[in-house]
Amino acid sequence: MDTPARKRILTGDRPTGRLHLGHYVGSLANRVRLQDEYETILIIADLHTLTTKNEKADIEQIADNARGMVLDYLGAGIDPAKTTIYLQSAIAEVYELNTLFENLVTVNRLSRLPSLKDMARAANISDDSFPFGLLGYPVLQAADILLPRAHLVPVGKDNEAHVEITREIARRFNGQYGEVFPIPEAMIGDTPTLVGTDGKAKMSKSLGNAILLSDDAATVTRKVRGMYTDPNRIHADIPGTVEGNPVFTYHDIFNPNREEVEDLKVRYRAGKVGDVEVKEKLAAALNAFLDPIRERMERCSADTGRVDEIIHEGTLRMQQIARETLREVRKAMGLDRTLTRIRRAVERRRKAQEAPRPA
Ligand code: ATP
Ligand code: MG
Repeated sequence: MDTPARKRILTGDRPTGRLHLGHYVGSLANRVRLQDEYETILIIADLHTLTTKNEKADIEQIADNARGMVLDYLGAGIDPAKTTIYLQSAIAEVYELNTLFENLVTVNRLSRLPSLKDMARAANISDDSFPFGLLGYPVLQAADILLPRAHLVPVGKDNEAHVEITREIARRFNGQYGEVFPIPEAMIGDTPTLVGTDGKAKMSKSLGNAILLSDDAATVTRKVRGMYTDPNRIHADIPGTVEGNPVFTYHDIFNPNREEVEDLKVRYRAGKVGDVEVKEKLAAALNAFLDPIRERMERCSADTGRVDEIIHEGTLRMQQIARETLREVRKAMGLDRTLTRIRRAVERRRKAQEAPRPA
């Protein structure tokens, strides 16, 4: 069995919109940091999009969403010379592996996952219209991860349980048919779940509580001004709460000026600073963080067609990797032998028919 020279990373996102700060701290920062050490493969998970959005009009949008997402990757510092980026639905073997894996996990195990119920709720899917494919979301994800035989999966906290399912499927497969897959590890980002600007739910593309990597400076400032803070603080001279306050959560993560952050916290707790100042300083810090990302994005989008080229090349490369793995899988399971036996029998029969009959 051929093993890749470097250990592999597989992770990615659903092409449902542009990426946000939550993606960055949950997963993207780790991908950028590790792309030299690991052979990194990023999936544009459009089959996963279909589990909650599968109207013809949704599918029409996938290409543009994928392009935007890849620009976000490049802006964040993903180097396409080192990293493979591919379109999931173009890989025939992922459908195949998904079908084989479906028998290695129980319905009970899947239906207990809170993440699937969260996803259904976010997409306004009722119990009655819960699709079979959504129940199988983590199985398809296992197929994504194990197809390139990945070792490491940088994801946000909400995906940790899915990687656990992948590990169970890999162990089950190896135990039943022979060692084909490494047991991959999840790597959760420094901020496992970034809260949204609403201070309520996790930052999400579909909840309207996100600051996008592609937002311009004025948009970021406007979104920060509208952020949820301590609701009890109706005047600047009322002592405020820093803990769990999303404005300070973001300061802690994105403002490298520790002294400024500490000073704001002290004054906030003492009722000696207005929300306006705290938010202005946060907007400035976020814009300083996003400036180089936006600049790289702009440079990349000026090169028309480059993004399409990257996705196209990456998909061709992934098709090769996928073919190799499925060859191993079919061999380990003995699936090919069924047809081989039948074909040999057919050949024997034909030979017998062709042989000249004794006169
Ligand atoms: P959707 O609303 O379409 O579900 P999403 O914003 O939840 O989109 P996903 O495509 O589901 O994004 O997630 C992609 C990756 O980013 C996953 O690894 C996920 O764990 C991570 N991620 C998403 N949102 C956050 C967040 N707020 N904090 C940390 N990680 C996140
Ligand atoms: Mg999600």
